[in-house]
Amino acid sequence: MSDYSPARPCRLENVPQWDIETDVAIVGFGAAGSCAAIEAREIGAEVEVFEVASEAGGSASWSGGEVYVGGSGGTSVQREANFTDTTEAFERYLMMAGGPAADAQRVALYAQSGVAHFEWLKAQGVPFKGTYLPGKWIEPTTDDTLLWSGNEQAWPFCEQATPAPRGHTAQFKGWGGGKVLMENLCARAETMGAKVHYGARTLCLIVDGEGAVQGLVVRLDGKPRFVRARRGVILCAGGFIANREMVTRFVPQALACKQQVTGGNDDGSGIRMGIGVGAATLNMQEFFATLPFFPPESLVKGIFINNRGQRFINEDTYHGRVAHYVLRQPEGRAWLLVDNAIFGRPVIEPNIDIAAVGESWEEVEQELGLPEGALQHTVEEFNRHAAQGEDPYFHKGADWLRPLNEPPFAAIAYSPEDTNFHAFTLGGLATRPSGEVLDADGQPVRGLYAAGRTACGLPRWGEGYSSGLSLGDSTFFGRQAGRQAAVQEP
Ligand SMILES: Cc1cc2nc3c(=O)[nH]c(=O)nc-3n(C[C@H](O)[C@H](O)[C@H](O)COP(=O)(O)OP(=O)(O)OC[C@H]3O[C@@H](n4cnc5c(N)ncnc54)[C@H](O)[C@@H]3O)c2cc1C
Repeated sequence: MSDYSPARPCRLENVPQWDIETDVAIVGFGAAGSCAAIEAREIGAEVEVFEVASEAGGSASWSGGEVYVGGSGGTSVQREANFTDTTEAFERYLMMAGGPAADAQRVALYAQSGVAHFEWLKAQGVPFKGTYLPGKWIEPTTDDTLLWSGNEQAWPFCEQATPAPRGHTAQFKGWGGGKVLMENLCARAETMGAKVHYGARTLCLIVDGEGAVQGLVVRLDGKPRFVRARRGVILCAGGFIANREMVTRFVPQALACKQQVTGGNDDGSGIRMGIGVGAATLNMQEFFATLPFFPPESLVKGIFINNRGQRFINEDTYHGRVAHYVLRQPEGRAWLLVDNAIFGRPVIEPNIDIAAVGESWEEVEQELGLPEGALQHTVEEFNRHAAQGEDPYFHKGADWLRPLNEPPFAAIAYSPEDTNFHAFTLGGLATRPSGEVLDADGQPVRGLYAAGRTACGLPRWGEGYSSGLSLGDSTFFGRQAGRQAAVQEP
């Protein structure tokens, strides 16, 4: 068994026999894999799925189940809650969210298809209650559907893309709607005839003399089995946050985050299999990070400062964007300053360190050991403008502006060493929106497709990420890959 490594493909001439033959072989039965299977079966292709875990769903089944969709005038839920959402605004937002490496072709396709994709998810049996939950949340604690799940209302996003809430969460009371999302998608794939092998780790791909992917080697019942995939192999094996060696090599900044956002099998095996047959990778340095500093949402009215006593962000922006800004502060140090009126223990980290408390901001400054006057000057400037409903430095929205002037005052410690930052990876194999995996010349690697976090998809920039983008991307582009593989000539 140790003869096989994801990064070293098996040569066709070394295949002793085909143990399994199918049209489409899918690696991983999570968000992307289940949707790829449904679409490939819809077209009539034979589908076999190989899932290393003993059950279906991948990281997606541990997730919040939030899917980022909108455009085309609005989903049924957006419209019901009196929000309109144009495709243009959705596309602009997604381009901003994708950052410097945003893929305009992929973004345009997704923006045009958001509403139809939401309807498709419902048609697969995923329940959405259809109600709107106002306020600022990480995940809904109710079974409502629609919430503001990104940077839509925050500067600079709100200036360039008309804001609309686009996080659509599968119906589930409390956190963890991903379980409902995946139970339904995976059941649908199996009902449609996809054959799923559990406890089946894909070890490597099989390539012919011309570099075309012909199948894969999988460990089944403790033995290597050789799978022929006549129309193609689709890699849907998640990202690489659980592979410390890969994280150290490609995205070392993420090591500062103590908490991996994963169901456990994001070990990069899919990406390494792609690299092994000549695929290019993109954006391997990018990662989602979060610092869940609210709820309660009153904390958003506080201000973050660094160890120079200076602010560095509009605190009403998405928590993941705040996390990236904290990570790049000098020595990675940051505190959230709050007064008595807005203080509350953060729900996710109730035991977080309160680094300083005082009856004046001067006392808090001294207790933090900051240069004399630095914090006081920052608070004075903030309070002076907040009293006018303005934030000329960072453009925080007026709803979140209020002078911090009610003692006692406190500084909540928010550095990665003080609290659990959460992370998963956003880099992966280069693909077309159709899922075709590309080599270093931008040419397709024949017989190979990828989607979800194994590919570099729609979410490409930690600073621009919004909750729901990964599941939106994985489910939608998983479908594209399933269709593209299924229509290939065997
Ligand atoms: C707690 C939590 C909350 C989250 N909340 C959200 C949210 O609300 N919205 C959102 O958009 N994203 C959310 N995410 C992130 C999201 O769940 C993932 O990014 C998403 O599931 C990626 O989909 P995927 O198909 O690429 O991977 P997965 O869903 O993880 O599926 C990959 C599958 O491949 C299998 N696999 C891996 N290697 C092999 C191998 N060699 N052979 C066979 N099988 C293999 C894995 O076991 C897994 O089942 C959350 C994640 C977590 C953990």
